[in-house]
Amino acid sequence: MVSRRNLIGTGLWSLAGAGLGGVSLRALPAYAAAAAPVTAEMLTPDVALLRGAGGNVLAVSDGRKVTLVDGGAQAHTGQLLDAVASAFPGQQITTLFNTHWHPQQTGANATLAASGTNIISHANTRLWLTTDVKWPWGGHTMPLPRAAWPAQVFYNEPLELGEGAARAVAGYMLQGHTDGDAYVYFPEADVLHCGGVLAADRWPEIDWWTGGWLGGLAEATETLLAIANDNTRIVAADGPVFGRAELLAQRDMYTTLFVKFRDELLFKGLSPEEAVAAQPTREYRPEWGDPGPFVNHAFQSLWGYFAPDA
Ligand SMILES: [Zn+2]
Repeated sequence: MVSRRNLIGTGLWSLAGAGLGGVSLRALPAYAAAAAPVTAEMLTPDVALLRGAGGNVLAVSDGRKVTLVDGGAQAHTGQLLDAVASAFPGQQITTLFNTHWHPQQTGANATLAASGTNIISHANTRLWLTTDVKWPWGGHTMPLPRAAWPAQVFYNEPLELGEGAARAVAGYMLQGHTDGDAYVYFPEADVLHCGGVLAADRWPEIDWWTGGWLGGLAEATETLLAIANDNTRIVAADGPVFGRAELLAQRDMYTTLFVKFRDELLFKGLSPEEAVAAQPTREYRPEWGDPGPFVNHAFQSLWGYFAPDA
């Protein structure tokens, strides 16, 4: 689905692409100034979870420098960097992981790249950042400026770097939320950022236009279960921190929903609208709000993998 936030991001990116020189992007839209402040919650003395920047951001210090996982939306970059500086005074952000290409995760790329931060992502994430994306359900993003593209990419093999609490293992989750989804795990801190494949307080988006699909979402939970132990704190793109029990519950739910969507909706020849009307998620998570956009996109995401029988 495309949220209002996507569209806001789109507008900012368009302005950035137009070459506004010294004009402060943060000063342009009134809604950015009115946004809620970015807040930091210390998960450990070395790990801060930053909320309110458009998506959950992790800042992890090795005592001398900081690694970020995701950078929030561009409208919040200044606030985000202020919050990181308050959590870890005097420490430079030397590494930024992009868990996927969406504007809510990559909005700080340009600012941080300009100050020398090494940006790392899966290769597919970098590819999407080099082009404009026009979703069939609405919304349009412009490519990031070349200097803001991840300078370091990985493919199928996990990438390990850093030291102390900031030692990070980043790995690929195949196609789930997009086709460039990465997790970033900090073994010393025992904190796992799983990007957009999961959400903790709402139905996740399945961006099938850039390679996500429901079967992959279910598979990604298996990848994460192989990493998380009983004490691991798991951070999704949105919502509060959760643990392995919630990950198991989501694995079971998405696996069940995948089979249900395939066999009872797609193979029966339903349209996306009929799939939504069938309320296939009605047994699950009423507290997550309207499941319609999730159902619609999850259903359409199967089209690339299965042909309806009817
Ligand atoms: Zn996303």
